[in-house]
Amino acid sequence: MNAETPFHSADTRIANGLSVDVEDWFQVGAFENVIKRSEWDGLRTRVESNIDRILDLFAEAGVQATFFTLGWVARRHPAMIRRIADAGHEVASHGYDHARVFNFDRKAFADDIRLARDILEDCSGRRVAGYRAPSFSIDPRSSWAFTELAEQGYTYSSSVAPIAHDHYGWPEAPRFAFRPVATSDLVEIPVTTAILGGRRVAAGGGGFFRVLPYGFSRWAIRQVNHRDERPAVFYFHPWEIDPDQPRVAGAPLRSKLRHYTGLDKMAGKLSDLVHEFRWTRMDEIAAREALRAVDFQASHAGATKRIEVPA
Ligand SMILES: [Zn+2]
Repeated sequence: MNAETPFHSADTRIANGLSVDVEDWFQVGAFENVIKRSEWDGLRTRVESNIDRILDLFAEAGVQATFFTLGWVARRHPAMIRRIADAGHEVASHGYDHARVFNFDRKAFADDIRLARDILEDCSGRRVAGYRAPSFSIDPRSSWAFTELAEQGYTYSSSVAPIAHDHYGWPEAPRFAFRPVATSDLVEIPVTTAILGGRRVAAGGGGFFRVLPYGFSRWAIRQVNHRDERPAVFYFHPWEIDPDQPRVAGAPLRSKLRHYTGLDKMAGKLSDLVHEFRWTRMDEIAAREALRAVDFQASHAGATKRIEVPA
């Protein structure tokens, strides 16, 4: 693009939030009853080579993204965290070892996010401003987590799936940015949903992106960008582009189907996605969305009337 040409095609597309939840193939919720945390240290890690492929793809497409990273992973791969940050991406927190927030009490949660953040800031040399709960595990059971995030000075969270799902979800939560703590500017940026047949459907990535045809994600992101006039928030995992990862014996069939379907096509679909739409880091999305965030205080979640700002 020639910067001196005044009317040269400025990119007027909405910038969407691109995120990678950085965990290894054995750290996913689907296998938590089969592989114990105490066994993690003995397993062959594959996260670093997968992250390098992702960094290459993002560099080639000219996009920047946010890497929500486990403290456990950062501690073992500090140079990888530095490479992510040095490439201009945001390093943010995914907690220490993928324990779900609703299984913590507040004190244990406070310790978990403090530990993860210390490690991530040490490795990246940058301040950590964002948090994503493992398995989108902030819901009405664990909404006190927002108060803790606010008190620890986080700028934003992207920890709510505003949808009904078998493992997670908070269907009453707003679909777009909200302020979960009345006394704080902390903003929650929920993962993307689309409206299909009058119902919210998950459209922000994960297994849905892998299993469904790419055209579904294209349709959903266009709906969010053009009809809602909001940014979409998309996420995926490093192990999803790794068809050669070890197969976990003894896992339930349903978990295996969810984890292994579509791995071989994932890299190609991701490439389509990052080229077709415009993407940026989650801290930039949060800064922009904070201006349009609605109040939705979790302590009265059942009774709170949702105030949708007209597009
Ligand atoms: Zn995760």
